[in-house]
Amino acid sequence: MSDFYTHLKKSLEALNIQYDDNICHQFYNYYEFLVRWNSCINLTALTEQDDVIDKHFIDSLSLCTYIGLEDQAIIDVGTGAGFPGVPLKIMYPDLKMVLLDSLNKRVRFLDDLIRELGLLNIDVYHGRAETFAKNPKFRESFDLCVSRAVANLSTLSELCLPFVKKGGSFISYKGSDPEDEVLKAENAISLVGGSVNNMYKFKLPFTDISRSIIFIDKNKNTPGKYPRKEGTPSKDPL
Ligand code: SAM
Repeated sequence: MSDFYTHLKKSLEALNIQYDDNICHQFYNYYEFLVRWNSCINLTALTEQDDVIDKHFIDSLSLCTYIGLEDQAIIDVGTGAGFPGVPLKIMYPDLKMVLLDSLNKRVRFLDDLIRELGLLNIDVYHGRAETFAKNPKFRESFDLCVSRAVANLSTLSELCLPFVKKGGSFISYKGSDPEDEVLKAENAISLVGGSVNNMYKFKLPFTDISRSIIFIDKNKNTPGKYPRKEGTPSKDPL
């Protein structure tokens, strides 16, 4: 096991991400807090230091290679233990970040984590995307929606694109070969007002782990009937 700070800094540099000591301390505190809570509630299968750095922190931050994030309003749908939303917020403190998850115990962890890290302008909500996306406070009010490891792209597009303003983007973190999934999701994406803009494929620094990020533009308002009622987008994808 390498030293936490050495490993983190080397990986941030490989992604060309600027950092300072405070940012690195925040990630260390996040790691400690995650592992401590994980012994009581199920937050993540990964607890080894190197795994958490590579597969949670650096994976979440890989987006910064492709897009500038300053001052954006972002919602992370199905954030779980805070991925990718919390690493992005640590890196860009000026972001307006909303974290949403349907599991209350994870939301309680996130509330405590945010207090522990002293993060400001970040709100955590317990609930399902199907319901929150109908609320005028959230509907079509974010520049970006991000989501990792929540559902297939057809389901996710119905859950996530309704949150995005026209002109904004939904950004889906995926695994090594997302092409088939993207093809299958094209109908759903178009029905909810989007179109695929770009797909980036890469390896996490100093690993053989392949990942991809899919950028979906929001071109048109989402018809009011989407998302359908809770559970339908996953049971019966568009
Ligand atoms: N995004 C995190 C990550 O990459 O580690 C968590 C992934 S976890 C496999 C999926 C999370 O999505 C769970 O915490 C679950 O509660 C949440 N989730 C699933 N369906 C959801 C929905 N319809 N609305 C909100 N959250 C949902």
